[in-house]
Amino acid sequence: MPAVRCTVFGHPVAHSLSPRLHALFAEQTGIALEYTAIDAAPDEFGHAVREFFAHGGRGANVTLPHKAAAFALADVRTHTARRLGVANVLTLLPDGRVEAGSNDGAGMLADLHGRFGVDPRERDVLLLGAGGAARAAAFALLDAGARDLTLANRTPARAQALAAMLSEPKRTRVVDWGALDRCEAFDLIVNATSAGVQHEVLMLPRSLVCSRTFAYDLSYGAGAQPFMAWARQAGCAATFDGLGMLVETAAASFERWHGVRPDVDAALRDLHEGLAHPPDAAH
Ligand code: NDP
Repeated sequence: MPAVRCTVFGHPVAHSLSPRLHALFAEQTGIALEYTAIDAAPDEFGHAVREFFAHGGRGANVTLPHKAAAFALADVRTHTARRLGVANVLTLLPDGRVEAGSNDGAGMLADLHGRFGVDPRERDVLLLGAGGAARAAAFALLDAGARDLTLANRTPARAQALAAMLSEPKRTRVVDWGALDRCEAFDLIVNATSAGVQHEVLMLPRSLVCSRTFAYDLSYGAGAQPFMAWARQAGCAATFDGLGMLVETAAASFERWHGVRPDVDAALRDLHEGLAHPPDAAH
């Protein structure tokens, strides 16, 4: 049986862990898979996607900066992707159409609630950032029953735009970054900024934290370290990074394309091992 062809599109894409994760899942499930990484510049992305699906591609993960373009070029869009206006999964349907989906928010909840037991229901949540990942996180946190969602972003207008998109004025508010020191402590702080991956440290007041506060960073590895270190020092009850979210979203794509749920915990153990002892070739 010929290998199923799947890929990840990004620009750059060399850092992506998706090829490794999908290879692990394929090994676990015995599926013959050819999973590549395609680096496409924004002006080549549409052509590259059409070529991929015209030549036997079954599914594609999509990472920065193509998530909005992936949403726009699809023939069909899932309900979640329509709410967000972005997509991170493209799937070839049996009738030849390409479906755009988004599983970032579900992946975050599967990790935060499913793995770590932090249920956003009835919690006061602070969400830092207003980019694509923050958008997915915001909808997911509200859907999961967060009592109150406070949005803060370096560029306040983007937080305002996200709040307008959420259309939940009773449960959402926007706070200027500079006014965070006037907020009460939160039950949960979610960092959806890319500051850490750019080796930048967020300036956050300790008063955001009390002994019941959980901290979750969507970034992982070295990118999550500055925020996690701040959260620990500030006295958070527990801190988590987004590696599990990454594996959950990869597993959901895998299941969408192959109809089999891989073993997420086994893949996470393998990744933790790899991140603790990264091979020279990865750097
Ligand atoms: P975007 O580029 O869309 O958004 C970046 C956000 O970070 C913006 O809100 C930006 O603010 C903010 N930001 C960047 N630098 C700083 C800084 N120095 N201080 C304060 N705010 C800053 O990125 P994404 O939303 O796609 O991704 C955000 C993070 O989430 C990334 O680190 C990414 O790796 C991670 N992620 C993890 C996933 C996982 O599966 N674990 C999945 C998706 C994303 P401004 O608007 O002012 O520019």
